Amino acid sequence: MSIVPTTLPRGRAGGPPPDDARRGWRPPHNRARLAGHVLGVGLALVVVLGVVHEDSASLGTAGGWANAVGRLTGLVGTYGLLVMVVLVARLQFVERVVGQDRLVKWHRWIAPGVLALLVAHTVANTIGYARAAERGVAREFWTLLTTTGGMLTATVGLVALLVASATSYRVAKRHLSYETWWVIHLYTYLGIGLSYSHVLSSGSAFVGEPVARGFWIALWLLTAGLVAWYRVLLPTVRSAYHAMRVESVVAENADTVSITVVGRRLDRLPIHGGQFLQWRFLKAGLWWQAHPYSISSLPTRTTLRFTVKRLGDHSAALLTVEPGTRVAIEGPYGTFTRHRLHLDRVLLVGAGVGVTPVRALLEDLPGGVDVTVLLRADRHEDLVLADEVERFVDEHGGRAVTLVGPPDEVPIDAPALRAAVPDVADREVYMCGPTGFMRAMSSSLRESGVPPERIHHEAFTF
Ligand SMILES: Cc1cc2nc3c(=O)[nH]c(=O)nc-3n(C[C@H](O)[C@H](O)[C@H](O)COP(=O)(O)OP(=O)(O)OC[C@H]3O[C@@H](n4cnc5c(N)ncnc54)[C@H](O)[C@@H]3O)c2cc1C
Repeated sequence: MSIVPTTLPRGRAGGPPPDDARRGWRPPHNRARLAGHVLGVGLALVVVLGVVHEDSASLGTAGGWANAVGRLTGLVGTYGLLVMVVLVARLQFVERVVGQDRLVKWHRWIAPGVLALLVAHTVANTIGYARAAERGVAREFWTLLTTTGGMLTATVGLVALLVASATSYRVAKRHLSYETWWVIHLYTYLGIGLSYSHVLSSGSAFVGEPVARGFWIALWLLTAGLVAWYRVLLPTVRSAYHAMRVESVVAENADTVSITVVGRRLDRLPIHGGQFLQWRFLKAGLWWQAHPYSISSLPTRTTLRFTVKRLGDHSAALLTVEPGTRVAIEGPYGTFTRHRLHLDRVLLVGAGVGVTPVRALLEDLPGGVDVTVLLRADRHEDLVLADEVERFVDEHGGRAVTLVGPPDEVPIDAPALRAAVPDVADREVYMCGPTGFMRAMSSSLRESGVPPERIHHEAFTF
């Protein structure tokens, strides 16, 4: 077993040279690590901003402590909200290192804390002002709402955030279509926007404090700029430049198609085998939604292909999308690439339509890598792209194994895995498939001696 230099030529015969820099790959981590440090320093500055004005005189007044807690929780909570936005702003240099699935997980993980801080801010400040004015809390809340500038919009904003977050809980999400959830989630941007003026106009840390105001405004501008650039402008510029259209839709089986798009200089897209794009089809009924699909072969100068299995409305509509339909893209995204490969022996596992990124990754692997591919499907007709996989495996002098049949008849437990791939413990593993399969496969791999850091997976759900 030895370490693979990721700059080895790819295994594909012919095709463009493995020019990593041109295709958007940089040696890992530096900018992502810097982004992490910037977030930490930002948090420290916000905490300083929240406590620097407190002294024994202000804390000793009626409601002084409650107001101090309200100010600090408000500032830290708002900062957390901006961090949540940045985590899902699809910053490519961060996403390429961390992965979109992990960024979304972190976004979800900090959300309850951030919302709790914002609710605590509202409650503590209302109590503080009520004590100072010697009024009841409910009456003070109403007075603040109706007489203090920015308070009504900030409250509407907070309610929008709470609604968006409630719909993200698994139980609620199960009852909503992805698109409904997504539209509700857009209200978070409204909620954040509505709270902006409230913080600057009523936060005592900012009144008559130009440096603090400048810092706060810069934070908001930076967040808005990152969202505008990475989520709107970059995809728009990229889509306009590549000018993609559907060229052909080829059936792989009854409910899976491979769609080839043509466009300008697609070999300049900074995309690697195993990555995905968010695809938007510019036709009635589809233009407003973008869905993630992995590429199923590397781009040529003018073409790019992906493969879709019918699952719901969007994927079903793609089975009959007309050639000539214009296409916009966002991305590429994903860390399921050869850049994570450390060994020269790899096992690629694709179950069902999970073969898609495996197929493109196989094409992108360095030539000297010893490859075994395991394809899993319930029925033979579900083994899509299997002939292409076998061709690339042959080019590598590797081995392709197929396991076909229902899970109760053809299990993927540890003994079955070791029978199919006897040297599995010496390999680095990339796998993609349905959630249940990935879970079972992960535990079989670990039981067979593959440590978790040598298992890479692509999940088709966030
Ligand atoms: C990183 C990634 C790569 C993928 N690659 C492929 C691929 O190569 N081939 C393929 O057939 N499928 C792929 N998928 C799955 C594909 O995105 C979904 O099947 C498709 O979006 C379902 O949409 P729908 O309207 O047809 O079904 P729905 O009934 O709306 O959704 C079915 C499931 O897909 C999820 N989903 C729907 N829309 C999205 C979205 N925009 N983002 C994330 N999840 C969503 C829903 O939460 C639900 O779990 C990939 C998914 C991800 C996250």
